[in-house]
Amino acid sequence: MSVSAKIRPNAEVRLQGYPLSEGVALAHVVLLEAADPKAVTYYRIPKGRAEEELARVHEAVRTASAQLALIVSRVSERIGKAQSNIFVAQQMMAQDPVLLEEIATVIRTERVNAEAALVRVLDRYESLLHDVDSDYLKERASDIGEVRRRLLDILHGSEPQETLVSNMVAQGNNRYIIVAEELTPTQTVSLDPLRTAGFITERGGPASHAAILARAMGIPAVTGIADVRRVLPHGEPVLLDGTNGVVVLRPGVSTLQVYPAARRATVQHLSSVAPVEGLAVMANINLSTDVDEALEAQAEGIGLYRTEYECFMAGRLLTEEEQYERYAAVVEAMAGRPVYIRLLDLGGDKPLEFIDLPQEDNPCLGFRGARLLMGRTDLFITQARALARASQQGPIHVIYPMIADLSQFLVLRELYRQHTSDLAAGEVKHGVMFEVPSCCLMAEEMFEVADFGSIGSNDLIQYLFAVDRNNSLVAKDYSPDYPVFWSLLERLSQAASAAGKPLSLCGEMGGQPQYLPRLIDTGIRSVSMSSRLIGLARLSARQILGRSS
Ligand code: PEP
Ligand code: MG
Repeated sequence: MSVSAKIRPNAEVRLQGYPLSEGVALAHVVLLEAADPKAVTYYRIPKGRAEEELARVHEAVRTASAQLALIVSRVSERIGKAQSNIFVAQQMMAQDPVLLEEIATVIRTERVNAEAALVRVLDRYESLLHDVDSDYLKERASDIGEVRRRLLDILHGSEPQETLVSNMVAQGNNRYIIVAEELTPTQTVSLDPLRTAGFITERGGPASHAAILARAMGIPAVTGIADVRRVLPHGEPVLLDGTNGVVVLRPGVSTLQVYPAARRATVQHLSSVAPVEGLAVMANINLSTDVDEALEAQAEGIGLYRTEYECFMAGRLLTEEEQYERYAAVVEAMAGRPVYIRLLDLGGDKPLEFIDLPQEDNPCLGFRGARLLMGRTDLFITQARALARASQQGPIHVIYPMIADLSQFLVLRELYRQHTSDLAAGEVKHGVMFEVPSCCLMAEEMFEVADFGSIGSNDLIQYLFAVDRNNSLVAKDYSPDYPVFWSLLERLSQAASAAGKPLSLCGEMGGQPQYLPRLIDTGIRSVSMSSRLIGLARLSARQILGRSS
């Protein structure tokens, strides 16, 4: 029976699959489109055209080898040498002289074009491996399929899979769970490890390369979910337990309560690298239960708690009491280490269906972030009271999102004071998220009144360069690699140190080791990132700081 028949809207749905890679993940679904079955044209060639077709095959093999060489070096650098051998093997298959000879024979004797000959020969090898009574060899057949796909893409003039996948999932900066019928090794290594919380597939055994790579990358994964693209709709919250092969669509509160314990069991070996002097590395969390992972990673604090995710997961706004419980749990768990909790950052690319927001033509420039909090003071006041109460467990830094002007910060902070003055509270600091260019351009004034600054590079890049962070068409332009961006960071860093106020960076680039040397040079000595990236960042920082001292 199809599982989808049982799904009621908004109800929790539990699915049993096969565990592929250990760990628990909780995020929204991103459906990876099925591979586009390109119309490969097969035709007979006129006499005398065989050598021309053969030359096309040789050219395609050269291009494929170059593409695979790039993947090999990327994978050995980021994941491991052993894992990169998967692609070395594919490279050898593509260049195999016996295979090329067979293709040449088919072209010459049957007078068919390059595509037809390639498919004929590679299909035969693939089915030979499929028929062998060995799971290992059956899985290797999929490598032949990948090589065939790559060569056909090249002959067809299409983008390679790795570019397609990274463009497809370049949308948004939040973490997600990839859902696909099947993932090839190339697709798997093209997933952004910063944002891929896990993946769920319909096909692909435990010996598949995708599974091997998922384990090496520390990404939880489950397979064997029938009709996966239909039962797990795009954008829905899903919990995935890669240890037990369980997938829960729209997990309810009682399910989520069971999982904090499971999370503790999912430590990445890299995540427990000890702190490094000279660079504080904190954790970004979306749910209070994520704090366990942060502790396992020895995070030096919570640099960003995106509280709106608690509402997304609950499917509604939380009461003051519910918010208090979550914030207090995080503060208590961090035992005196800094905890930066961001006020609800709603609107724009983070709409909440269950609050009545106006329809806008351009929501990213509309009623969002600080503006929304000023317009919906009921939301702000409830959260302010929960935060003030939670500060009794330990100090809290409150981050004000999407501040475009000093007046917004002052108005909201005053509102906070007015509505929490009757409560017993601990130490609460109020700071600004630097993610709108106007705010950065008045950094000196901001630091006169704010207690700290937090750089939201994800939105800062979007608004500085007028480039949508969620649009794959412009993904190439969405980058920190422009001098003007770094000048702005320098200005923020100088303003913070002149005012003697803390500054940290909590956008995704903080977890990308290639930017660490420059961030450190700029004077930014505190970054915050997803817990699983902390180990890698510290290893890089150790090298950088070791070199410079
Ligand atoms: C940012 O904008 O850089 C940020 C950290 O916040 P978010 O990604 O939630 O917008
Ligand atoms: Mg932001």
